[in-house]
Order: sequence, then structure tokens, then C-alpha cells
Amino acid sequence: RKAGYAIVGLGRYAELIMSKFAECDQSRLVALVSGTPEKLARFGEKYGVPESHRYSYADFDRIRDNPDVDIVYVILPNAMHAEYTVRAARAGKHVMCEKPMAVSVAECRTMIAACRAAGRKLMIGYRSRFEPHNRLAIDLAKKGFVGQTRIITADHGFNAQPNQWRLDRKLSGGGSLMDIGIYSLNATRYLTGEEPVEVSAIESTDRSDPRFRTVEDRISFLLRFPSGIEATCVSSYSSNHNMYRVSGTDGWIELEPATSYEGQKMWVRRNGRTEEQQVPAGKGQHAGQLDHFAECIANGTDPLVPGEEGLADMRVIEAIYRSALEGRRISLA
Ligand code: NAD
Repeated sequence: RKAGYAIVGLGRYAELIMSKFAECDQSRLVALVSGTPEKLARFGEKYGVPESHRYSYADFDRIRDNPDVDIVYVILPNAMHAEYTVRAARAGKHVMCEKPMAVSVAECRTMIAACRAAGRKLMIGYRSRFEPHNRLAIDLAKKGFVGQTRIITADHGFNAQPNQWRLDRKLSGGGSLMDIGIYSLNATRYLTGEEPVEVSAIESTDRSDPRFRTVEDRISFLLRFPSGIEATCVSSYSSNHNMYRVSGTDGWIELEPATSYEGQKMWVRRNGRTEEQQVPAGKGQHAGQLDHFAECIANGTDPLVPGEEGLADMRVIEAIYRSALEGRRISLA
């Protein structure tokens, strides 16, 4: 039997995810949760989700009584992730939660504890871990294909559109770092397999820009890892970036775009020659992510990106904000 997913929050990203069940072998869409009856009807009809499997936020907890739902996938504004993860776990469901996992370390801990208490699994939507170019980059970096890793540069950003929840701190928990800079941070952690021990950051935000009344625009950060690797990262809500480069003693590996929905490109420089790597497409990252969690549940194994991964990022994010605010290096050791 395929694992049944309920999608909570029917916004832009949820729309993309719903379209990806067609590529899945082990997962299917079985329920919808939204505050907008029109969206429940529209997507319910499009994906064959019957009325009995459509929920409002108010009657979400009734999902407990629906045996077709194995997994609740939370795709709401960041500040709502904790509440819906905890409610889903209490309803006896496994939880997939979008990045950033929540808006604080404390919330991440509560979510992990709630899933553990309910005996349910928790996975974070770090889809790049299921994307073939990123998987190859991790593998090559680990094998020392370009020598010992010394420096990682990772840049992520886009020009934020005004009037959206991402620019309202109460719903987003923060600006570019929570939303897009987290891809830079997460990449440095999966490319090194290490946790940073020191952080320093500078923030540049034009507070007269109406988009940035409550959240930051740019925040650049440096990370120091235990093995001596340094990472220099960009996070921006006013310029376009999507790349990383792993520089080693003998060359480098670069992805650009690195973490987009599709179209990744990869180059490797080694022995004085730069070559583009052709990476077999394989299963798409979204279907790969959905089916991975279904497999973990079927086999009783731990997900590749459990709640602890979201917590680890949030711990560094809090240190980055603190460093920028206090104008000093923060130790994470
Ligand atoms: P969106 O604005 O398109 O959708 C958010 C949904 O939440 C909407 O359907 C909205 O109606 C609903 N909602 C419920 N209560 C709300 C409230 N109080 N205020 C505002 N909206 C409310 O946003 P999105 O781009 O789909 O992002 C949703 C989540 O998915 C975020 O956590 C985001 O970080 C994450 N996301 C992840 C990826 C990825 O590639 N992994 C990509 C995009 C978004």
C-alpha cells in the first residue's frame, strides 16, 4: 500500500508538491487541509480527494479518525509549522514539515518531543538531499575528489515581492535567512558533514524599503567548522543568487543553479581542467523526498533529514542573527 499524505496549507509550494505525486511509486495524495473552501473544492476535484477527506484548520484534528492518512505534510507560513506538527503528531500521524522547520530552536525541540512522544516520525522538506547533482557533490566532497575541502562559498537570494507573509516577522520568523539563506547554510552542513563551531555575520537592510520593516534583507555569514573548513555565505532578499562551490586542495566543485526546483548544472575543476559534469536525471527531487519518507515508514527506518536536521540549522540561524545584532563572533562549540 502507498503511504497516504495529507497536505496542510494549499499555497504556491503545496500546489507544486501536489503535482509531484504523479511521479511517486510509494506515496499518494489522500487528504487536503485549508481555510479556503474554494481551494479544497478545486484541488479536491483535480486530484480526486473526496469531500470526506477535505478539512478546515478548525476540524484538522479529526484527521486522527482517517486511516487513509499516514503522513501530514505541513506547507504553511513558518510560524505555523510548530503548531500543526504538534497537532498532527497528537493525531497519530507522521509529519513532513517544510523548511525552515520553525521560527526558533525552542519550537524545533517541542516538535521533536511531540513526535517522539507520539511514536511518529518527523522529516524536514530539505529536498536538495534527493537531487542528483547535490548528491553527487556530497559524494565527491566526502571522497576527496578535489582534495581536502578548505573553503565553501554558498550564495542564495532573490528579489522579494512586496505584500506577502514572508515579509511579516510574526509569520516568517525572519527575512532572507529563514527563507532562502537557509539553503546556503544547509549546503555547508551537508557538504562538510560537520557542525559549525563559530559564526560571524553582518546584516544590511534598508529599513526605509517598505518590504523590510520587520525582516532583514541581506545577511552574510562566515562559518568555521571543526576540521578547519571555512564557509562564506550570502543570504539576500534583494539580489539573485543560487550557487555553491566547494574548494579543495586540488580543485573545486561548483553547482549553479544549486538548489532550484530544476535545471541544476555542475562543474568540476581538477588537474588544471574544468569540466561540466553530466548527471543522470534520475527520479525528481520532490518525488524522491516524498517516497523516501514513505519508505522510512514502511521499513521503520530513520529519515535522511529528520527534525534534528531542522533543529541544527535553526541553532546556527539564531547564532547568525545574534552575531549580526551584537557585532561579534558567536561560538557554537
Ligand atoms: P504561500 O503563501 O504560497 O502559501 C502559504 C499557504 O498558507 C497559503 O495557502 C495560505 O492561505 C496559508 N495560510 C494559512 N494561514 C495563513 C496565515 N495566517 N497567513 C498567511 N497564509 C496562511 O507560501 P509558500 O511559498 O507555499 O510557503 C509555504 C511554506 O513552504 C513555507 O514554510 C516555505 O518556507 C516553504 N517552501 C519551501 C520550498 C522548498 O523548496 N522546500 C519552496 C517554497 C516554500
